[in-house]
Amino acid sequence: MQKLIALLSRLDGRGYKAYKSITGRYDFGDFALCVEHVQGDPFAAPSRFRVCLPSRTAGFPPELWENVSRRVGLEHYLAEQFAAQARRFSRRRGTGHSGEIRIDAPGQQMLPRTAVRVGAEGVEARFTVGLPAAGRRILAREAIALLTEDVPIVVRSSLRAAAVDLPSARRYALTAEDADFLRSRLDSLGLVAFVADGAILPRRSGVDDCPLPNGVPFRSPPSLRAEMHLPNAGVVTGMGIPRGVTLIVGGGFHGKSTLLNALALGIYNHKPDDGRERVVSHPATVKIRAEDGRSVAGVNISGFISDLPLGRDTAFFSTENASGSTSQAAVIMEALELGAQVLLVDEDTAATNFMIRDRRMQALVPKEHEPITPFIDRVRQLYAERGVSTVLVLGGSGDYLDVADTVIGMVEYEPHDLTERARAVAAQFPTGRESEADSPLLLTPRAPEPQSLNPARGKKPLVVKARGLDGLTWGREDVDLRALEQIVHPSQVRAIGLAWAYALERGYFDGTRPLRAALELVLHEVEERGWEALGRFRDPPGDLAAVRLLEIGAALNRLRSLKVRPTE
Ligand code: ADP
Ligand code: MG
Repeated sequence: MQKLIALLSRLDGRGYKAYKSITGRYDFGDFALCVEHVQGDPFAAPSRFRVCLPSRTAGFPPELWENVSRRVGLEHYLAEQFAAQARRFSRRRGTGHSGEIRIDAPGQQMLPRTAVRVGAEGVEARFTVGLPAAGRRILAREAIALLTEDVPIVVRSSLRAAAVDLPSARRYALTAEDADFLRSRLDSLGLVAFVADGAILPRRSGVDDCPLPNGVPFRSPPSLRAEMHLPNAGVVTGMGIPRGVTLIVGGGFHGKSTLLNALALGIYNHKPDDGRERVVSHPATVKIRAEDGRSVAGVNISGFISDLPLGRDTAFFSTENASGSTSQAAVIMEALELGAQVLLVDEDTAATNFMIRDRRMQALVPKEHEPITPFIDRVRQLYAERGVSTVLVLGGSGDYLDVADTVIGMVEYEPHDLTERARAVAAQFPTGRESEADSPLLLTPRAPEPQSLNPARGKKPLVVKARGLDGLTWGREDVDLRALEQIVHPSQVRAIGLAWAYALERGYFDGTRPLRAALELVLHEVEERGWEALGRFRDPPGDLAAVRLLEIGAALNRLRSLKVRPTE
């Protein structure tokens, strides 16, 4: 630390670039501070730092990090603590970002991240600091106070067992472990999702992921109730959603979409007091929606749409501007190609003509003039032939009662098992419609062409930037991610871009290897070396979070320049 103080003192009043000389590792006694990358000027992205606390300083009992589930929960807690302390000590100490201390703060979902890592060696945290300057002149005294007083307080008060609230840290670890356990049990129970009694599903608002205060707690219908024995919380009960085709029906504003959204995010573990800690779904659950206007690259949508006007090919369908129904068909085929096992569809965001064609429409418009085979005629086949389950929110079309295994009715936010009644209604009022699925549902895996993925912009060989959750800047292009509702943190967006770059550089995208296989190679690397493996610099990045192959691929499918070749 004295060495750093001496170095900084000599820099006072000099040009900002002179800060580069402090790059290196400094011993602060109980921890080490690494200055990994120094920003070029006070307005540039702040400088990257890392601290390492040996286990004797950090002092977290091994039981809090001895398995991956618990470790991720603890790491989430520590990142939150660091972020809270950083906010307290961050203040303007000059021009631009001068004086800022920041860590990649997590949201409601406990994801593996690169910001804080706990292990046998101790605790490591990656964060950024805005090195102080007046104009472009170095403010040494400010820098010394920031780096040798404030940053150490932030570190010591947030990353040591002696300083944090250990029972809280423990709750995070055990909550994560219980959720992972629950999810791992789904398959053997024949379920695709589980929603615990007492869960709070609604959120405060469309832009606030915190639980709605006074939300009505979830209560399972007795006939769908399952009992689970969790390693930490003991016995919990809740609603199990069986494999197959499940319909969620009910009046408008009775909580159907809220339930479906909770299932969509049940692929993640939620932090304590989120309300969704024990809402889990199959890890390969994908929310599907219509996205008119998106681009589509060479998807075989012939199972849903054939004989388009002007003889357009739907076995290798590309467009710059998909319609509601063609986009939804493409989204489903892409999800299947990437390995989706459970599809979630909400009437609020589906194309009606894709979902259903009723008896009267069948009579009025003959099949020869209708390119669409509606989803209702494929949904059972998806389950029978591919084992892919579907959960649908549908308040508007009773035709689906014929194809549902389970029907859940939402009444004032409370689910009821309407399966038996739905069968009776279906028998009493036959729809008279005929199935239009007279062809197999063909899936053609695609291989991305590497030349179509250009990450460069100007002189920069690689530009990957998250624009919040909504978009990814890749080279000269902006990819619209707004339809990917299962992306929950900007750090996942960065990880998506870096995963593409990784696949490209290693030649995994070679024009013949299928998209899914190429991404599996990347994720295999991540499994071995952590998300840090995707970093661009010698020093690992602190702002990446885990994201599924399903999102990495789904985002790529929305890159407008993407070109693919069919592999069969
Ligand atoms: P639907 O899809 O059936 O029309 P939504 O799921 O959109 O209904 O819910 C309608 C409103 O009710 C939303 O504002 C939502 O936040 C709220 N809501 C949903 N579930 C609950 C609940 N359990 N307790 C309180 N409010 C809820
Ligand atoms: Mg709705």
